[in-house]
Amino acid sequence: EARSPDDLRCPIVVIMGHVDTGKTKLLDKIRKTNVQEGEAGGITQQIGATFFEKKTLEAQTAKLNVTEKFDFKVPGMLVIDTPGHESFTNLRSRGSSLCDVAILVVDLMHGLEQQTIESLTMLRKRGVPFVIALNKVDRCYAWKTCKDTPIRDALKEQDEGTVSEFRSRATDAKVQLQEQGVNSNIYWEMGEDDWMNSDFVPLIPTSAVTGEGVQDVLMLLCQMAQRKIWKQLMWCANLQCTVLEVKAIDGLGMTVDVLVVNGHLREGDRAVFCTLNGPIVTEIRGLLTPPPSREMRVKSEYIHHKEVKGALGVKVIGNNLEKVMAGTPVMIVGPEDEEEDIKSEVMADLTKLEAKLSTDKSGVLVQASTLGALEALLQFLREETNPPIPVSAIGIGTVHKRDVTKISIMNEKGHPEYATILAFDVSIEREAREHAQEMGVRIMTADIIYHLFDQFTRFMDELTA
Ligand code: GDP
Ligand code: MG
Repeated sequence: EARSPDDLRCPIVVIMGHVDTGKTKLLDKIRKTNVQEGEAGGITQQIGATFFEKKTLEAQTAKLNVTEKFDFKVPGMLVIDTPGHESFTNLRSRGSSLCDVAILVVDLMHGLEQQTIESLTMLRKRGVPFVIALNKVDRCYAWKTCKDTPIRDALKEQDEGTVSEFRSRATDAKVQLQEQGVNSNIYWEMGEDDWMNSDFVPLIPTSAVTGEGVQDVLMLLCQMAQRKIWKQLMWCANLQCTVLEVKAIDGLGMTVDVLVVNGHLREGDRAVFCTLNGPIVTEIRGLLTPPPSREMRVKSEYIHHKEVKGALGVKVIGNNLEKVMAGTPVMIVGPEDEEEDIKSEVMADLTKLEAKLSTDKSGVLVQASTLGALEALLQFLREETNPPIPVSAIGIGTVHKRDVTKISIMNEKGHPEYATILAFDVSIEREAREHAQEMGVRIMTADIIYHLFDQFTRFMDELTA
């Protein structure tokens, strides 16, 4: 099938930013803004994502589009449901990103924070275009609520003092971004060329609570998608698919939630998944999405599909899915494919990571929630720590007793300092904790990369002091 500019798939959007900047609130608001009764079907809940039909986007941006006269060509928009870093690091394939555009949320009252900077680094490294929502604009002194209004209209309603506070805070954010090497400007003050043809980042003041500026965010994302990255949005039959989450569902056993970016998945396909123990090949026994309306939704009831087409989020059922890793690609063995080639392709990211482990096998154990998170963490330990923290082993998911046993070997190898597990955003089995006590293994946990690094560095400093 030839790709065509008239056959675009919907862009995949992620929301990123520091904790408490309002990511979840903004996602909720985007889901609810101007949802008219009787317009059912305009917004559908998929697996791990919310899908907005084109007509919904048009309706949601109607007030703004009086002046914008923007012609929507994208068939809709797919917004990933888990805001934060996880979603982003998960949406990857061969080092590049599967998400198309991002919203980076900054708290206008706080400016840039640690995870804002981490997000910036990731977005730029993966070449993902993004807008910045300067959120909580309603916290400016004496802000007058203009519910769900385009931001320029809302600003016109404000007193001079309020506007000047907003101005000064926006300028601070701009300067801080500049310090990170990011050119930005309030979006209506930049020429369209600034952000279409260069890497100027548009700033959009928003309130995730009262909805000012939310239309503007949607509009800009669609403009960015259509004008800046339309080539990458041309629908293509080659399967591009990534694992979002692996979970047990009553009556279905272990299921794998995937995001299909391009191509098809069909019941009966021979799918190849990546696990720490090597590739697994299994037949797709079912493809499920939640029912279209909330009223119809009964717990554990899904719609079954014979075939799905990207971009969408779908739940896959099949055998032997227990060890599949989040953040890894899914591939199908076609009639002309060599199964072995497909297997090694599915394993490529993990193989590459394993190749970078400490060659003399001395180092800590790093455990993370997904392959993407693991990759980010390893890179950080390798590049941002001085001296680098050596890593001898990696793992995904909950820390088990066997992981403790594995790394306790460092005590015998004369490297007690490496008898350490750096656990990033994963839970620790109680048995594992007890075993760690007995075996002299430290378990350091954190949800922010820097915090883990700080803990370990402090520990090393104490050792050498
Ligand atoms: P997240 O950690 O980035 O997902 O942040 P949340 O969406 O959970 O929001 C953190 C807190 O900020 C909550 O108490 C929200 O009610 C509040 N909040 C989020 N957005 C806004 C906003 O635009 N205006 C105001 N006033 N509060 C907000
Ligand atoms: Mg949140």
